[in-house]
Amino acid sequence: MRTRFAPSPTGPLHLGHAFSALCAYRLAQDHGGTFLLRIEDIDQSRARPEWEAQIYDDLQWLGLDWPQPVLRQSANLAAYKTALDTLWQRGLIYPCHCTRRDIQAALTAPQEGDAPPRMGPDGHIYPGTCRSAPRPATWPADAALRLDMRAAMALLPQGVRFCETSSGSDAWHMISAKEAIENIGDIVLSRRDMGTSYHLSVVVDDAAQAITHVTRGQDLFDATFVHVILQRLLGLPTPVYHHHRLIRDDTGKRLAKRDDARAIARYRDEGLTPADIHALVGLPPRP
Ligand code: GLU
Repeated sequence: MRTRFAPSPTGPLHLGHAFSALCAYRLAQDHGGTFLLRIEDIDQSRARPEWEAQIYDDLQWLGLDWPQPVLRQSANLAAYKTALDTLWQRGLIYPCHCTRRDIQAALTAPQEGDAPPRMGPDGHIYPGTCRSAPRPATWPADAALRLDMRAAMALLPQGVRFCETSSGSDAWHMISAKEAIENIGDIVLSRRDMGTSYHLSVVVDDAAQAITHVTRGQDLFDATFVHVILQRLLGLPTPVYHHHRLIRDDTGKRLAKRDDARAIARYRDEGLTPADIHALVGLPPRP
Protein backbone atom coordinates (compact mmCIF):
# COMPACT_ATOMS: atom_id res chain seq x y z
CA MET A 1 0.00 0.00 0.00
CA ARG A 2 1.51 3.30 -1.09
CA THR A 3 -0.06 6.71 -1.00
CA ARG A 4 1.21 10.24 -1.46
CA PHE A 5 0.75 13.93 -0.83
CA ALA A 6 1.60 16.00 -3.89
CA PRO A 7 1.64 19.73 -3.20
CA SER A 8 2.70 22.44 -5.63
CA PRO A 9 5.26 24.86 -4.16
CA THR A 10 3.38 27.93 -5.31
CA GLY A 11 2.34 29.33 -1.94
CA PRO A 12 2.10 28.46 1.74
CA LEU A 13 0.50 25.21 2.85
CA HIS A 14 -2.79 25.95 4.57
CA LEU A 15 -5.25 23.96 6.66
CA GLY A 16 -6.66 22.25 3.55
CA HIS A 17 -3.21 20.93 2.65
CA ALA A 18 -2.57 19.82 6.22
CA PHE A 19 -5.84 17.89 6.17
CA SER A 20 -4.99 16.25 2.84
CA ALA A 21 -1.49 15.30 3.96
CA LEU A 22 -2.77 13.95 7.29
CA CYS A 23 -5.52 11.90 5.58
CA ALA A 24 -2.93 10.28 3.31
CA TYR A 25 -0.47 9.75 6.16
CA ARG A 26 -3.11 8.12 8.37
CA LEU A 27 -4.31 5.91 5.52
CA ALA A 28 -0.74 4.65 5.11
CA GLN A 29 -0.42 4.11 8.87
CA ASP A 30 -3.73 2.19 9.00
CA HIS A 31 -2.58 -0.15 6.24
CA GLY A 32 1.04 -0.50 7.33
CA GLY A 33 1.83 1.22 4.03
CA THR A 34 4.17 3.93 2.79
CA PHE A 35 3.46 7.66 2.62
CA LEU A 36 5.34 9.51 -0.12
CA LEU A 37 5.80 13.20 -0.73
CA ARG A 38 5.98 14.50 -4.30
CA ILE A 39 6.66 18.08 -5.29
CA GLU A 40 4.48 19.10 -8.24
CA ASP A 41 6.55 21.96 -9.60
CA ILE A 42 5.94 21.77 -13.35
CA ASP A 43 4.67 25.33 -13.35
CA GLN A 44 8.11 26.89 -13.10
CA SER A 45 6.64 30.38 -13.47
CA ARG A 46 4.92 29.97 -10.09
CA ALA A 47 7.02 27.41 -8.17
CA ARG A 48 9.54 28.88 -5.68
CA PRO A 49 12.32 27.14 -3.72
CA GLU A 50 11.27 28.95 -0.56
CA TRP A 51 7.76 27.49 -0.76
CA GLU A 52 9.24 24.05 -1.29
CA ALA A 53 11.46 24.47 1.80
CA GLN A 54 8.43 25.63 3.77
CA ILE A 55 6.48 22.51 2.69
CA TYR A 56 9.18 20.20 4.11
CA ASP A 57 9.34 22.24 7.28
CA ASP A 58 5.57 22.41 7.85
CA LEU A 59 5.04 18.70 7.18
CA GLN A 60 7.87 17.70 9.52
CA TRP A 61 6.45 19.98 12.17
CA LEU A 62 3.08 18.24 11.72
CA GLY A 63 4.86 14.98 12.54
CA LEU A 64 4.98 13.45 9.06
CA ASP A 65 7.94 11.62 7.57
CA TRP A 66 8.55 10.17 4.12
CA PRO A 67 11.23 8.27 2.24
CA GLN A 68 13.97 10.13 0.36
CA PRO A 69 14.59 11.16 -2.33
CA VAL A 70 11.46 13.17 -2.96
CA LEU A 71 10.31 13.11 -6.59
CA ARG A 72 10.23 16.61 -8.01
CA GLN A 73 8.27 16.84 -11.22
CA SER A 74 10.60 19.45 -12.71
CA ALA A 75 13.29 16.74 -12.71
CA ASN A 76 11.06 14.24 -14.49
CA LEU A 77 10.16 16.03 -17.72
CA ALA A 78 11.68 13.27 -19.89
CA ALA A 79 9.16 10.76 -18.51
CA TYR A 80 6.25 13.02 -19.49
CA LYS A 81 7.71 13.45 -22.97
CA THR A 82 7.90 9.66 -23.35
CA ALA A 83 4.22 9.35 -22.43
CA LEU A 84 3.32 12.10 -24.93
CA ASP A 85 5.37 10.28 -27.61
CA THR A 86 3.34 7.14 -27.02
CA LEU A 87 0.05 9.01 -27.34
CA TRP A 88 1.28 10.95 -30.37
CA GLN A 89 2.38 7.82 -32.22
CA ARG A 90 -1.06 6.34 -31.65
CA GLY A 91 -2.77 9.45 -33.06
CA LEU A 92 -4.40 10.28 -29.72
CA ILE A 93 -3.08 13.81 -29.27
CA TYR A 94 -2.96 16.78 -31.60
CA PRO A 95 -1.30 20.20 -31.61
CA CYS A 96 -3.46 23.16 -30.69
CA HIS A 97 -2.50 26.76 -31.39
CA CYS A 98 -5.64 28.35 -29.94
CA THR A 99 -5.23 31.12 -27.43
CA ARG A 100 -7.69 31.56 -24.59
CA ARG A 101 -9.23 34.35 -26.61
CA ASP A 102 -9.65 32.10 -29.71
CA ILE A 103 -11.43 29.53 -27.58
CA GLN A 104 -13.66 32.13 -26.00
CA ALA A 105 -14.55 33.50 -29.45
CA ALA A 106 -15.35 30.03 -30.81
CA LEU A 107 -17.51 29.28 -27.78
CA THR A 108 -19.48 32.47 -27.97
CA ALA A 109 -19.93 32.48 -31.77
CA PRO A 110 -23.62 31.89 -32.47
CA GLN A 111 -24.12 28.37 -33.77
CA GLU A 112 -27.57 27.26 -34.67
CA GLY A 113 -28.97 24.43 -32.62
CA ASP A 114 -25.92 24.24 -30.36
CA ALA A 115 -26.25 23.89 -26.60
CA PRO A 116 -24.53 26.58 -24.49
CA PRO A 117 -20.80 25.94 -23.78
CA ARG A 118 -20.24 23.32 -21.07
CA MET A 119 -17.71 23.23 -18.26
CA GLY A 120 -15.26 20.35 -17.84
CA PRO A 121 -12.57 19.63 -15.23
CA ASP A 122 -10.35 22.39 -16.72
CA GLY A 123 -13.00 24.99 -17.44
CA HIS A 124 -14.84 25.34 -20.74
CA ILE A 125 -14.85 22.27 -22.93
CA TYR A 126 -12.64 22.85 -25.95
CA PRO A 127 -14.74 23.51 -29.06
CA GLY A 128 -12.45 21.33 -31.22
CA THR A 129 -11.08 24.05 -33.53
CA CYS A 130 -7.68 22.38 -34.15
CA ARG A 131 -8.84 18.75 -33.99
CA SER A 132 -9.33 18.20 -37.71
CA ALA A 133 -6.27 20.13 -38.93
CA PRO A 134 -3.68 17.91 -40.70
CA ARG A 135 -1.32 16.46 -38.06
CA PRO A 136 2.40 16.95 -38.74
CA ALA A 137 4.91 14.07 -38.45
CA THR A 138 6.31 15.51 -35.23
CA TRP A 139 4.61 17.92 -32.91
CA PRO A 140 5.51 21.61 -33.16
CA ALA A 141 7.35 23.02 -30.12
CA ASP A 142 5.17 26.11 -30.02
CA ALA A 143 1.84 24.29 -29.68
CA ALA A 144 -0.15 22.83 -26.81
CA LEU A 145 -1.09 19.18 -27.17
CA ARG A 146 -4.67 18.06 -26.63
CA LEU A 147 -6.11 14.62 -26.11
CA ASP A 148 -8.42 13.63 -28.97
CA MET A 149 -11.14 12.33 -26.68
CA ARG A 150 -13.18 10.84 -29.52
CA ALA A 151 -10.21 8.78 -30.69
CA ALA A 152 -9.34 7.88 -27.09
CA MET A 153 -12.83 6.68 -26.21
CA ALA A 154 -13.09 4.72 -29.46
CA LEU A 155 -10.39 2.55 -27.80
CA LEU A 156 -12.37 2.44 -24.54
CA PRO A 157 -15.94 1.95 -25.78
CA GLN A 158 -17.12 0.58 -22.42
CA GLY A 159 -15.99 3.76 -20.67
CA VAL A 160 -13.73 3.65 -17.60
CA ARG A 161 -14.27 3.25 -13.87
CA PHE A 162 -12.43 3.61 -10.61
CA CYS A 163 -12.91 2.43 -7.06
CA GLU A 164 -13.48 5.03 -4.37
CA THR A 165 -12.65 3.96 -0.84
CA SER A 166 -13.94 5.78 2.20
CA SER A 167 -13.99 4.62 5.83
CA GLY A 168 -13.80 0.98 4.85
CA SER A 169 -16.57 1.02 2.23
CA ASP A 170 -15.89 0.93 -1.49
CA ALA A 171 -17.93 2.38 -4.35
CA TRP A 172 -17.33 2.28 -8.09
CA HIS A 173 -17.61 5.39 -10.23
CA MET A 174 -17.82 5.18 -13.96
CA ILE A 175 -17.88 7.42 -17.00
CA SER A 176 -19.16 6.28 -20.39
CA ALA A 177 -17.39 7.04 -23.66
CA LYS A 178 -20.17 9.50 -24.55
CA GLU A 179 -19.93 11.30 -21.19
CA ALA A 180 -16.15 11.56 -21.48
CA ILE A 181 -16.48 13.18 -24.90
CA GLU A 182 -19.26 15.53 -23.80
CA ASN A 183 -18.20 16.36 -20.23
CA ILE A 184 -14.39 16.33 -20.45
CA GLY A 185 -13.59 16.82 -24.12
CA ASP A 186 -10.14 17.44 -25.60
CA ILE A 187 -8.19 18.48 -22.50
CA VAL A 188 -4.66 19.87 -22.72
CA LEU A 189 -1.98 17.26 -21.96
CA SER A 190 1.01 19.44 -22.71
CA ARG A 191 1.05 23.15 -22.19
CA ARG A 192 3.17 25.21 -24.52
CA ASP A 193 5.14 26.72 -21.63
CA MET A 194 5.63 23.48 -19.65
CA GLY A 195 5.92 20.55 -22.05
CA THR A 196 3.45 18.69 -19.85
CA SER A 197 0.34 19.28 -17.75
CA TYR A 198 -0.95 18.47 -14.29
CA HIS A 199 -3.07 15.58 -15.66
CA LEU A 200 -0.29 13.89 -17.59
CA SER A 201 2.41 14.31 -14.93
CA VAL A 202 0.25 13.05 -12.09
CA VAL A 203 -0.65 9.90 -14.03
CA VAL A 204 2.93 9.17 -15.06
CA ASP A 205 4.26 9.77 -11.54
CA ASP A 206 1.57 7.86 -9.65
CA ALA A 207 2.48 4.86 -11.81
CA ALA A 208 6.26 5.43 -11.54
CA GLN A 209 5.96 5.63 -7.75
CA ALA A 210 3.69 2.54 -7.65
CA ILE A 211 0.97 4.49 -5.82
CA THR A 212 -1.87 2.14 -4.88
CA HIS A 213 -4.09 4.72 -3.10
CA VAL A 214 -4.51 8.32 -4.23
CA THR A 215 -5.80 10.62 -1.48
CA ARG A 216 -6.94 14.02 -2.70
CA GLY A 217 -9.68 16.60 -2.27
CA GLN A 218 -13.22 16.26 -3.55
CA ASP A 219 -12.53 19.19 -5.91
CA LEU A 220 -10.42 16.82 -8.03
CA PHE A 221 -13.14 14.18 -8.43
CA ASP A 222 -13.84 15.05 -12.09
CA ALA A 223 -10.12 15.21 -12.86
CA THR A 224 -9.81 11.63 -11.64
CA PHE A 225 -11.81 10.46 -14.67
CA VAL A 226 -9.24 12.17 -16.92
CA HIS A 227 -6.49 10.32 -15.05
CA VAL A 228 -8.17 6.94 -15.32
CA ILE A 229 -8.65 7.43 -19.08
CA LEU A 230 -4.94 8.29 -19.43
CA GLN A 231 -3.95 5.25 -17.34
CA ARG A 232 -5.93 3.02 -19.67
CA LEU A 233 -4.44 4.61 -22.80
CA LEU A 234 -0.90 4.34 -21.44
CA GLY A 235 -1.32 0.81 -20.06
CA LEU A 236 -0.79 1.97 -16.46
CA PRO A 237 -2.55 0.58 -13.39
CA THR A 238 -5.45 2.50 -11.83
CA PRO A 239 -5.01 3.10 -8.09
CA VAL A 240 -7.86 3.19 -5.60
CA TYR A 241 -9.02 6.77 -4.92
CA HIS A 242 -10.15 8.55 -1.81
CA HIS A 243 -11.58 12.04 -2.37
CA HIS A 244 -11.72 13.67 1.02
CA ARG A 245 -13.96 16.50 2.17
CA LEU A 246 -12.70 20.06 1.67
CA ILE A 247 -11.70 22.44 4.41
CA ARG A 248 -13.65 25.65 3.97
CA ASP A 249 -13.42 29.15 5.37
CA ASP A 250 -16.13 30.76 7.51
CA THR A 251 -18.12 31.72 4.41
CA GLY A 252 -18.06 28.14 3.10
CA LYS A 253 -15.46 28.82 0.40
CA ARG A 254 -12.71 26.27 -0.23
CA LEU A 255 -9.33 27.48 1.08
CA ALA A 256 -6.93 28.71 -1.59
CA LYS A 257 -3.19 29.37 -1.56
CA ARG A 258 -3.86 33.06 -1.04
CA ASP A 259 -5.64 32.30 2.26
CA ASP A 260 -2.50 33.21 4.18
CA ALA A 261 -4.58 33.63 7.32
CA ARG A 262 -4.93 29.87 7.42
CA ALA A 263 -1.33 29.11 6.47
CA ILE A 264 0.26 26.47 8.71
CA ALA A 265 3.26 28.77 9.17
CA ARG A 266 0.98 31.46 10.53
CA TYR A 267 -0.59 29.12 13.08
CA ARG A 268 2.91 27.97 14.07
CA ASP A 269 3.99 31.56 14.62
CA GLU A 270 0.92 32.12 16.78
CA GLY A 271 1.99 29.24 19.02
CA LEU A 272 -0.48 26.54 17.99
CA THR A 273 0.68 22.93 18.26
CA PRO A 274 0.35 20.12 15.68
CA ALA A 275 -2.44 18.70 17.88
CA ASP A 276 -4.29 22.02 17.49
CA ILE A 277 -4.04 21.70 13.69
CA HIS A 278 -5.47 18.16 13.85
CA ALA A 279 -8.37 19.54 15.90
CA LEU A 280 -8.91 22.49 13.54
CA VAL A 281 -9.36 20.16 10.56
CA GLY A 282 -11.58 17.80 12.56
CA LEU A 283 -9.22 14.84 12.92
CA PRO A 284 -9.24 12.95 16.23
CA PRO A 285 -5.87 12.95 18.01
CA ARG A 286 -3.50 10.04 17.42
CA PRO A 287 -0.65 8.87 19.58
N1 GLU B 1 -0.48 19.27 -7.10
C1 GLU B 1 -1.88 18.97 -6.97
C2 GLU B 1 -2.49 19.95 -5.97
O1 GLU B 1 -1.77 20.55 -5.19
C3 GLU B 1 -2.02 17.53 -6.54
C4 GLU B 1 -3.34 16.99 -6.47
C5 GLU B 1 -3.38 15.46 -6.60
O2 GLU B 1 -3.29 14.94 -7.69
O3 GLU B 1 -3.45 14.81 -5.55
O4 GLU B 1 -3.68 20.18 -6.00
